[in-house]
Amino acid sequence: MKTETRLPSDYNQFIEQIKSSQVQQVSIKPDRIEYTLKPEFGSQRYYTKPVGKIDDLLQLLHRHGVEFDTLPDSSATHASMIGFLLSTGVLVGAFAWLLKFANAGNGVGIGMGMGKSNARVYNQGKPGITFADVAGVDEAKQELQEVVDFLANGEKYRKVGAKIPKGVLLVGPPGTGKTLLAKAVAGEAGVPFLSMSGSEFVEVFVGVGASRVRDLFNRAKRQAPCIVFIDELDAIGKTRGNNPVGGNDEREQTLNQLLTEMDGFDGNEGVILIAATNRPEILDPALRRPGRFDRQVLVDRPDKSGRLEILRVHARSVALSQEVNLETIAAQTFGFAGADLANLVNEAALMAARNNRTVVLMTDFGEAIERVIAGLEKRSRVLTPLERQTVAYHEVGHALVGALMPGGSKVAKISIVPRGLGALGYTLQMPENDRFLLLEDELRGQLATLLGGRAAEEIVFHKVSTGASDDIQKATNLAERAITQYGMSDTLGPVAFANNNTQFLEGNSSRRVVSGEVTAEIDRLVKQNIDQAHDIAFEILRLNRNLLESATQVLLEKEVLEGDQLQTILTQVKAPAELNSWLMKGA
Ligand code: ADP
Ligand code: MG
Ligand code: ZN
Repeated sequence: MKTETRLPSDYNQFIEQIKSSQVQQVSIKPDRIEYTLKPEFGSQRYYTKPVGKIDDLLQLLHRHGVEFDTLPDSSATHASMIGFLLSTGVLVGAFAWLLKFANAGNGVGIGMGMGKSNARVYNQGKPGITFADVAGVDEAKQELQEVVDFLANGEKYRKVGAKIPKGVLLVGPPGTGKTLLAKAVAGEAGVPFLSMSGSEFVEVFVGVGASRVRDLFNRAKRQAPCIVFIDELDAIGKTRGNNPVGGNDEREQTLNQLLTEMDGFDGNEGVILIAATNRPEILDPALRRPGRFDRQVLVDRPDKSGRLEILRVHARSVALSQEVNLETIAAQTFGFAGADLANLVNEAALMAARNNRTVVLMTDFGEAIERVIAGLEKRSRVLTPLERQTVAYHEVGHALVGALMPGGSKVAKISIVPRGLGALGYTLQMPENDRFLLLEDELRGQLATLLGGRAAEEIVFHKVSTGASDDIQKATNLAERAITQYGMSDTLGPVAFANNNTQFLEGNSSRRVVSGEVTAEIDRLVKQNIDQAHDIAFEILRLNRNLLESATQVLLEKEVLEGDQLQTILTQVKAPAELNSWLMKGA
């Protein structure tokens, strides 16, 4: 036996690592697979137990150009092969097949079995992953609880004739636990979990993807109740018809087949489709129609308490020293996703092993955090402390200004946890679209609230960041609609200047063809409204400078402010003398 340490790794994780080109070298042993990561990913050494077919693995390794060998482990005999039997003979055969496959692009037909879905099936008989293994994403778990209940007690729903969701789309940044959640749903319900990745459907041969989809659904129906999980839905679900030069026939056929299959079964058959993507914006709208993926569940990066829970989950399998304080670690890992935290615990355990210790110390975690952050900085943007402060002041600015405004401008939650898809922080307000009638003062209040973020940055840093651009866009649209659609202006009066046909394109405003003078007047009024709203926001924050400061410090510490704690802060906001007259006056 060699003395080097190899960490256990989940087979799925291994596959993901191959796909993201992190794997340096793979050794296929009779009873397990050993592999190393490239130096920039920590040169760690792992082993994993294979699941599924060797062909699939070889194909994947081949496709990603990963070096692999099949030296038998001296300690294992060929008789002890588990899972997939692999002798040199089989390998040579597989390799020959692979080469054939690689050459098949020029006209050799679709080989037998290529249209088979090759979906991996988990959870047959054995209890797998459950919700207890997924932490820090309570809202997503809550939403999925219903799916679990349906799968486990389908009869109850069928009796009352309730419509069951057919498709649930998990949306969120990489590593937040989407795959894990889908597996946990199957584990909780005790049903089979058929899983495939979008990229596996799309092959070079036209028609293979579509027939794999068909096969997958046929298998699912035979195994119902069960879950079909499609990872990387965007690989097949990209908007169709974007490509003028021929397009991608294969992908379109695959997508069309998926849509057909989704329409062809009803939820009562006990098959529920779950898909995951981190790029929802590029999905074909047809996928989101009612009866398809009409449920969307956001799986986002965890806040501090979420990170603590995730650390607890992963710390279960390592020996921690008494002095290790997971709360401190949670506080130091701002912006980490679940996978980063799992990786962190692993790294810390490695440090301990390297130093021949039997328990993991706090210093191991300290070093591991630095390593993981260095890796994160390569892959994605991590906020610098200054950026994080800027975001915090900005969000508190919205909240304090909103506190004084009438109607729906009240803020319910502020967060500076990086939101998966774009925004850095966010402030949760009652959405404008939920209101049908917005009074004039409420509309002004919303304008001021929108501009509160930018005003806070000006007051604190005497300059503004690019983070306010979305607010300004929204404020401009709102101010323009106030004048052109709602008739809220003295000089122009209650005349609709907007083109009615476009009023359902929410958020935009589109003017009717009007004279140059009217256009100029609208522009002047929009600017005036925004300037005034900005001035009042600025004045409010100037007057409440100390509160802005203390609330921001609390937000930086907690990362999320909501409930009583937020309301207590908001009730302390003092109103400037001119607020009322500004709210009441006609433009
Ligand atoms: P995604 O599918 O969103 O990219 P995964 O589900 O593949 O993320 O997560 C990869 C690994 O990271 C998981 O197997 C698990 O070990 C860890 N992980 C991610 N999110 C969580 C979470 N919320 N709770 C516990 N572990 C998590
Ligand atoms: Mg995943
Ligand atoms: Zn903002």
